[in-house]
Amino acid sequence: MSDKIRKVEGITKESTETLIAETLAVYPEKAKKKRAPHLGANDPASGSACVKSNKKTVPGVMSARGCAYAGAKGVVWGPIRDMVHVSHGPVGCGWYSWGTRRNMMSGITGVTSFPMQFTSDFQEKDIVYGGDKKLKTLLEEAHDLFPLAKGISVLSECPVGLIGDDINSVAKQSAKDLDIPIIPCNCEGFRGVSQSLGHHISNDTIRDFIIGTREYAEPESPYDIALIGEYNIGGDAWSTKPLLEECGFNVKAVWTGDGELEKIAATHTVKLNVIHCYRSMNYMCKVMEEKYGIPWIELNFFGPTKIRNSLRQLAALFDDTIKAKVEAVIAKYDPIMQAVIDEYKPRLDGKKVMLLVGGLRPRHTIGAYEDLGMDCVGSGYEFAHTDDYDRTAPEMPDATVVYDDPSEYEFEKFADALKPDLVGSGIKEKYVFQKMGIPFRQMHSWDYSGPYHGYKGFEVFARDVDMAINSPTWKLVKAPF
Ligand code: SF4
Repeated sequence: MSDKIRKVEGITKESTETLIAETLAVYPEKAKKKRAPHLGANDPASGSACVKSNKKTVPGVMSARGCAYAGAKGVVWGPIRDMVHVSHGPVGCGWYSWGTRRNMMSGITGVTSFPMQFTSDFQEKDIVYGGDKKLKTLLEEAHDLFPLAKGISVLSECPVGLIGDDINSVAKQSAKDLDIPIIPCNCEGFRGVSQSLGHHISNDTIRDFIIGTREYAEPESPYDIALIGEYNIGGDAWSTKPLLEECGFNVKAVWTGDGELEKIAATHTVKLNVIHCYRSMNYMCKVMEEKYGIPWIELNFFGPTKIRNSLRQLAALFDDTIKAKVEAVIAKYDPIMQAVIDEYKPRLDGKKVMLLVGGLRPRHTIGAYEDLGMDCVGSGYEFAHTDDYDRTAPEMPDATVVYDDPSEYEFEKFADALKPDLVGSGIKEKYVFQKMGIPFRQMHSWDYSGPYHGYKGFEVFARDVDMAINSPTWKLVKAPF
C-alpha cells in the first residue's frame, strides 16, 4: 500500500465520471443500469472498492471472462506437474486450454510430469447413457499408461453436471481399486459467473481430498513456509522460491506452479503460508489457519519496492537470524535493481499504463510500473471480488478509472480517451490495441517472456516494457500520405 495519494495530470473525478457516462450511453437501458455500478473513479483515501463485482456478465457485451473449469483446471489443478489432469466431457475445453497458460514444469513429459491433454472426449452416446463407465475405464488406462503419476484429477466440463453423472463415486471406487489419489472436481463451466468459483471449488477439493494426507520426510524447522498462489508463469516460481531460500526459508511446497502432489498434501505442517495470488487461494489459507493454526501473509514480488517491503514484512514475523539475512539480500540486490532503473526509467518516465487482467495483477503490478516512473491511469479485473477492489484503491492514483468485468467496447473506449502509452492485458485484447497504434504487453502470459516475479523478474519486466513502448514500429502506424 502506498502512503501518499498520487494524482495524474488531467485526470479528475469529474473527467472520469464524464468518460464513464459517455461510454455507458450506447447501451440499452437495462444493460446500462447493470453496467453502471461496475465502473467508477478511484478514491484511494477511502481504501475501499468503488465498484460492484463478482456478478453475472451482461449477455452479449463481449466479456473477457472464462468459466469455472478454466479457474479449476487451467489455474489451480493443471500446474501440479506429477498428476494426470483429466478434462472430463467433450473435446473442446481441454483442447483450447492445452499448453496455453505458461505454468512451466520440470520433469520428463509423459513420464514424471504431465503438461498434456487428457480427455474423456464425450460423444453423443456418453451424453445419452452417461459417462461414468467411460470414466472408470479411462482412470484404469491412465494409471496403466502413466504409472509414475502420483494422482489423477477429474475436471468436469459443462455436460457432466447436467446429465447427472456421479464422478464422486467413480473417483472414490477407482482410487481404492488403483490405490492412488483420484480427485473429483465439480467445476462445470456453468457454475458461478467466472473463473473465480472454479478457484473456490478446486480449493475445496484440495481441502477434502489432499491436505493432511502426507508428511514431509525431513524434520520440521522454524523456517518452514509454503508459497501459495504462485503458478510459475514463465518461471515466476523459479525466481521467487530461490529468493526466499536465500533469505533463509525452507520453501516446502509451491501451490501449484511446478507443484508436487505429495508436497502440497503435507503443507499442513509448515509454520507460515506466504500467499501471492490472494484471489485464487485465500480459501485454502483460511482453511489451514482454522484447522491447523497456520498463519498466512499476503506479499507482492513485482518490482524492487514491493519486494523490499514484502521481504521486510516477512522477516518481521521471524527471528534475528532471518532479519539479518533478509537485510543482506536486500543490500545485495538494491544496487542491481538501481542499475535496471537507471537504464530504463529515463526511457519510460511519465508514461501511462492501463491494465485489465484476472484477479491479482491489476493491482499487484502497479508498483513495478511505478518503479520505472510510470503511472497507472486505469485498471480492472475480470473476476475480482470486493476484497480485491478494497486492496486496489490505495494502489491506484486518485480518480483514475476502475472497471470490473468490462466489455471489450468499454475497455477500448477508455483507452481511446485516456491515450495510454501501454496497455497490459490478455491475448483477446492484444491485437485490437496494437491496431489502434497502442503498445501492448500480455500480462497473463508475459507475452512468452518472463519471469516477472522477484528481482530476476524485474530485469525482464523492465526490458519488455521498454521494448514494447519504445519500439520503432509505432512511428510507422500512419501512412505518410
Ligand atoms: S463453459 Fe463449459 S464448455 Fe465452455 S470451456 Fe467452460 S466447461 Fe468447457
